Amino acid sequence: MPRCVTKQNTSMWQAAEYIKVIKLKICRNMSYRKYWNELVDIHGARCYYCHKEPATTIDHVIPYDWDEDNNFNNLVPSCNLCNRLASDMVFEDVEQKRRYILTQRRKRSNQIVICTECLIPYTYRVHCPTMFICAECYDIEYGTEYSKSNVWKTWISQLSAAGIPIEAHRKVREKLLKIKNITIDVKVETLIDEYAFIFNNDPNFARMLIYS
Ligand SMILES: [Zn+2]
Ligand SMILES: [Zn+2]
Repeated sequence: MPRCVTKQNTSMWQAAEYIKVIKLKICRNMSYRKYWNELVDIHGARCYYCHKEPATTIDHVIPYDWDEDNNFNNLVPSCNLCNRLASDMVFEDVEQKRRYILTQRRKRSNQIVICTECLIPYTYRVHCPTMFICAECYDIEYGTEYSKSNVWKTWISQLSAAGIPIEAHRKVREKLLKIKNITIDVKVETLIDEYAFIFNNDPNFARMLIYS
C-alpha cells in the first residue's frame, strides 16, 4: 500500500493490483496455446467431441480451475459449442465427458421452435436446418425441398391430428409474405383471425387455442 492512503489512491491501487492479477491469469491461461499445432496433428482439425464442427478452441478435459492442469494430456481441440457445454464440470474420463456433451447437443437439436413467418411449430434440425423459419417457409425462401420430405409430411399430419389448423398458418404466410417489417404481434393477431375463421368465427376460442 502507498504510504499516504487517501480514498482516491486506494481505489487506484486496487485497480492496479486487479490489472496485475488479470495479466497473470491471462499469461498463465494462454501458455497451453503453444500446443495447438500438435493437438491438431494428433486429434485432427475437427472438434474432438462432436467430430462435426471445426475445432476453434482448446478444451481442458479437466477444467483448468479444478487443478490448473495445462499439460498436453489434459487438452483437446474443440469447437466453441462443445467447449461451452461442459463448462467447468468434472468427469471420470474424457469419454464420459464426450458422452455428456453429445447428449447436451442432441437435446439442443431437438428443440421445438415456432416459425417466425407462419408460426407453425417444428423441431429444429429434424424438420429444418434453421431455428427461425419452418421447412415450408425455408423452401419458399431458398428453393429447397425440405417440406417434401416424409419427416415433414408426417409432422404436418400429426399437427393436424392434434387439431392445429395448418391452413390458417399457411394463410398467414401468404397474406404477410410480401409485407416488410411486420412485428410478431401482428402475425399472431393475423393468425388469431385465421383460426377464428376456421373455428366458427369465435376469436376468443382461437385466442385460447393459440395461447394455450
Ligand atoms: Zn464440437
Ligand atoms: Zn413457416
